[in-house]
Amino acid sequence: MERGNFIGSILGLAIGDAVGYPCEFRSRETILRTYPPNGVEGPVALQDPIWPRPPYIVGTEHPAGTYTDDTQMTIAVARGLLEAGSDDIDGVMKAIAGHFVRWSRSADNNRSPGATCMSGCKALAGGTPWPQAGVADSKGCGSAMRVAPFGLLCWSDESRLLELARASSLLTHGHDAAIEGAAAGALLVARAMQGQSPEELYQAVATCCGGRSADFDACWEKIPGLRKSVPASVLCEGGLGEGWVAEEAVASALYCYWQSPQDFRSIVLMAANTDGDSDSIACIAGGIAGAALGVDAIPTEWLAVLEDADELRELAEELWSASRQ
Ligand SMILES: [Mg+2]
Repeated sequence: MERGNFIGSILGLAIGDAVGYPCEFRSRETILRTYPPNGVEGPVALQDPIWPRPPYIVGTEHPAGTYTDDTQMTIAVARGLLEAGSDDIDGVMKAIAGHFVRWSRSADNNRSPGATCMSGCKALAGGTPWPQAGVADSKGCGSAMRVAPFGLLCWSDESRLLELARASSLLTHGHDAAIEGAAAGALLVARAMQGQSPEELYQAVATCCGGRSADFDACWEKIPGLRKSVPASVLCEGGLGEGWVAEEAVASALYCYWQSPQDFRSIVLMAANTDGDSDSIACIAGGIAGAALGVDAIPTEWLAVLEDADELRELAEELWSASRQ
């Protein structure tokens, strides 16, 4: 596996998150009206009001290229994984939990974090053991949006990859669809990095994650029938959904990747210009596309404005080095 795939996935998910950020909570129609005629065509500054309570966006400085909680939690997962090394599952989850708690308390946590993620972090901070920290019946996409590091670091050991990704959901989200969404998200990154086609990616998830969650299965099974329909009818209620829940976000990301698997820009723009949880769909899609296509496929003018691009590149390099030990 090449260094460029690791860097592509990490920078790809962060830029996807950043491009989607100004579109989150807005309908596709509103986005197209605000940024005519095609919606956002790259990173733009956030124009939303500042909200006093969750979901909150605090502070006035959110220039184009600002990433959100999706990337912040992905960084926390990566740091925990690197810290724990070849430790057992308990050791890895405790390391990730420590980074989650630190993030949840940091001043940078001001970019509309998910309420369920915050609840899980609060429980972890209060000493609740990680398997019980998550909200039992929540299937928000918060645990699926942050799993790319498992796909990168564990790509050659899929049983560890799936075990760790599933366990990591429990820190915040306990519903079976959230758990399978996390497993699927990590698996898609790993298989995309190995050059598998969208059809093969679809099938890999059906094989490894199927039969474990009725909600996840029901959504996944919709993809083949919707694959050739236009985004305006797929990435919304009545299609694959708005992406607020895990199975919808992961299925929507694969749909976007499937439309133009060689074109990073189109994949991310399709994922961002959507109803609902645009930053998470674009984050997951960007992580998959970047893993498949490598960092050179990401528009350089996007990377030029991406927040912390150098630090993210270094983190990806660390994951790459660790994957070779
Ligand atoms: Mg977000």
